[in-house]
Amino acid sequence: MHHRSRPTAGLLGTGAALSLALALTVTVSPALAAPPGPSAEPDPVPALVAGEGTEAPQLVTGLSEAAPGGPAEAARAFLAAHADRFRVDPARLTEVAVERTGQDRHTVRFQQDHGGVPVLGGQYLVRLVGEGADQRVESVGGRYFTGLTAPTKPVAPAAELRRQALDAVQDPRARAGAAVEDRGPVVLPGGAGRLAQHFSVRADDAAGGGPLVHDVYVDATTGVVALAQESSTPYRVGGPDTAAASGPAAVPAVGSAPDLHGRTVPVNVSRQPDGSYQLVDATRSAGILTYDGGGRDFTEFGGGIPDGILPVSSPGPDFPASAGSSGATDAHVNAAAVYDFYRNRLGRDGLDGKGSPILSVVNVTDHGRPFVNAAWGGRTMVYGAGDDLHLPFSAAMDVAGHEMTHGVVEHTANLVNIGQSGAMNEGIADYFGNAVEVTAHGIAMDDPTAPLMGESLCRTGTPQECATRNLDNRHTTVNDYLGAGKEFDNGGVHANSTIFSGALWDIRRTLDPLTADRLVYRALAEYLTPLDDFVAGRNAVLAAGKSLKLSAADLRKVAAAFDAHGIKAGWQSRVGTDSRTLMPGGTAPLGPVTGGGHWVMGSVLPNDKGIALYTGSTTGTGTPVRLSPDDGRTHGWAATDGKSAVWLAVGPDSTGTWGIAVVTAPLTGGPLRTLFQGLHGSLANLRMSGGDIAFTLTDNATDQTRVYLSHDGATPTQLPLPEGHNVSSSLAFRDGRLGWIETWSADGATVQAPTVYSTATGKVTAQYPVSTPQDGAKPFLGSPVLAGDRLLWLAAPADRTLPTALRSGSPDGSGVTDLLPADSRYSLTEREFTASDQAVSYVHRSPEPTTGWSNAALPKLYQLPLTGGTPVRVSCNRGGQYHPVADQGTRVLWLDGTVGRNDLVVRDKPAGSC
Ligand SMILES: [Zn+2]
Repeated sequence: MHHRSRPTAGLLGTGAALSLALALTVTVSPALAAPPGPSAEPDPVPALVAGEGTEAPQLVTGLSEAAPGGPAEAARAFLAAHADRFRVDPARLTEVAVERTGQDRHTVRFQQDHGGVPVLGGQYLVRLVGEGADQRVESVGGRYFTGLTAPTKPVAPAAELRRQALDAVQDPRARAGAAVEDRGPVVLPGGAGRLAQHFSVRADDAAGGGPLVHDVYVDATTGVVALAQESSTPYRVGGPDTAAASGPAAVPAVGSAPDLHGRTVPVNVSRQPDGSYQLVDATRSAGILTYDGGGRDFTEFGGGIPDGILPVSSPGPDFPASAGSSGATDAHVNAAAVYDFYRNRLGRDGLDGKGSPILSVVNVTDHGRPFVNAAWGGRTMVYGAGDDLHLPFSAAMDVAGHEMTHGVVEHTANLVNIGQSGAMNEGIADYFGNAVEVTAHGIAMDDPTAPLMGESLCRTGTPQECATRNLDNRHTTVNDYLGAGKEFDNGGVHANSTIFSGALWDIRRTLDPLTADRLVYRALAEYLTPLDDFVAGRNAVLAAGKSLKLSAADLRKVAAAFDAHGIKAGWQSRVGTDSRTLMPGGTAPLGPVTGGGHWVMGSVLPNDKGIALYTGSTTGTGTPVRLSPDDGRTHGWAATDGKSAVWLAVGPDSTGTWGIAVVTAPLTGGPLRTLFQGLHGSLANLRMSGGDIAFTLTDNATDQTRVYLSHDGATPTQLPLPEGHNVSSSLAFRDGRLGWIETWSADGATVQAPTVYSTATGKVTAQYPVSTPQDGAKPFLGSPVLAGDRLLWLAAPADRTLPTALRSGSPDGSGVTDLLPADSRYSLTEREFTASDQAVSYVHRSPEPTTGWSNAALPKLYQLPLTGGTPVRVSCNRGGQYHPVADQGTRVLWLDGTVGRNDLVVRDKPAGSC
């Protein structure tokens, strides 16, 4: 029902060369205002919603054009005949599903491809009413991307793509045991599109969170990770769908079984040839089968039921007490109730609409710990056994309805489990979870428990205390939306779900419940597409209402419910912030850098082909200008000294050969110059100071890292290190001084030494060695930063868990102090900090709350004087605050997630307290 978040690095990784995880930002399409009609009450249903970054409209309603023939062929022919109007090429569409609701209504869902490669989230829908010669197109819409020119064949070597996918796992120990599955090519939408290879990477999270599955999309032209997210997609695919446990000789029967509420209830079971009975309900679709996981890990059931596990069985038709205490009886009964709701009320045959078997597994664990949760695993519902405070999670019908609705969503709109689309996925699951429960139990809509999710799971306490979420809420986008990176609830999918589910529940109370259920279901099955946001969700529900022939008064009630929750076009501009925006967030922003009063940042704005670099003033005067050329390469990982920038250009060069080049250009514009290319090894940590350029180069064969320095544009030269020494960190470069962590072995010990080097004298000027016996676990020292006359770095315990101390070395090497101790109340949690000559700014994230998600749990920026002092808040903005970069004095820039984008923003002084 809710997924624990696991500690990960910030929104954007910076450490590893070329392996930045990028955030997917779903853009909002502005609704074109309908022309004012003669009546005082405008039609709340938009007639036309334009697409953003595409010529194909997102929604066109009110059509009534003849389209005879089979639905799929008729829809295709209609789009072909009106190519000038809808800008959709039927040759690029593959039919995914034809949803038939009622006698004379069909929705054809098409998937877009580009040169035979599927486009992520590219779906277009045509809705038809009537039959035979009278069939008409009622409305069309979705996301079809017209500007795609991306290549359809990978340029980067296959082994390199796989290596980059693996590198997206940031913890080296987890990476060592990770498995990579190639899921094929996909085109990522936005501008010209990007060809990517989709990998599932399964790795054990060393921080103790259990196995993680990441969906990683590696740009197949540049070899750069384009998108990475923790995924709910099952990693394991296989295992029997039905377990064939109810073979032909099994006979349907009615038995009885104890449940978790102390009752004995009738259950639909099957009698086996040997005379025993199983929890197999053969009266509903292809069967409802219920299993006891016997304490196995929940991830073992993600791909189906493993061989050898049979449904819960009993020697006779009356099941023993264990069927009750494990939660199996409740899972079985609740699955039937959810099936009946969808079948009888909405005309849907099972989760996939095709009557496939419904599989539930109770009594599963989470990596040896209790699984105090429930989940939709892609093919099965899994329920934990609860704990001292909670019953097994199958005890609640609304929870069963929630998880099974995830299965329905997956087979209809397939809303992507991140950001606003993910929050709608969760919100719709909550809506139907509660709708199933109140319908089956005859609970009135004004009963105080009706809007509560999971209120019956607690062993003690009131329903209000126990409930995980409440759909009777006044949550709004403007007041409550938590804009966050994937490290927080996959971009706030549960936290923000109540904004959308609150509007849906209000509709259910305002209209009659049956009409509301049909309305939300029709929006899900016939209008929504995978990358839709809240505003598209509003338009989908309204358009569904019009097609259901709701009265104008009822449609206005629906619109009013969305208005009351702030779900309307342009809500982002009404969210209050205390920062100045330097550049609004595009997709795939890379962390900014600063120098000499200027910033440089990589991003993708709507018309960009791939990542482009932008630059502007840190005070916000003037408008940002694009720095990198549109040459088919990805431009990023920049450094600047305020006059020029240097960066990596990754991708095919003018001869089509894939490679990495270090290039430079003046910030004021001017020709791009290639400084060097064809370097052997992993290049990282580009830095710039006074026209000089430094970087690290790691030999992939020996894992040796060396520092290179280029003076005045000359060929870079390797700085000498003593025999046996290595560089184990990123790089600092400021005013002719370099800083790094140097490591070597001496007298049976490993030495790590934060080091300052003068480029003028070619000598080490300060070094602060830390010695650890070679059989001991060495602490983590990293992230050197030069500020004022000091070197700063991070120090964390050997097991790499938090907390992390921020240390400062004196200029002459005589002493080290803790600028921010590890046990400080506002300690550094994300290993991200930045410093000017006056102030240090860093990211602090409160320990995750045990229940729910709140603004306080998001990463926030703090600042303290370089000379030490009490940390204060940099900004009181509501969303996540990521990737701080200091300018002069106390001014700091960062990526701000408040409105669900990654805006580059600035403040001159810290806000203090919030
Ligand atoms: Zn959920």
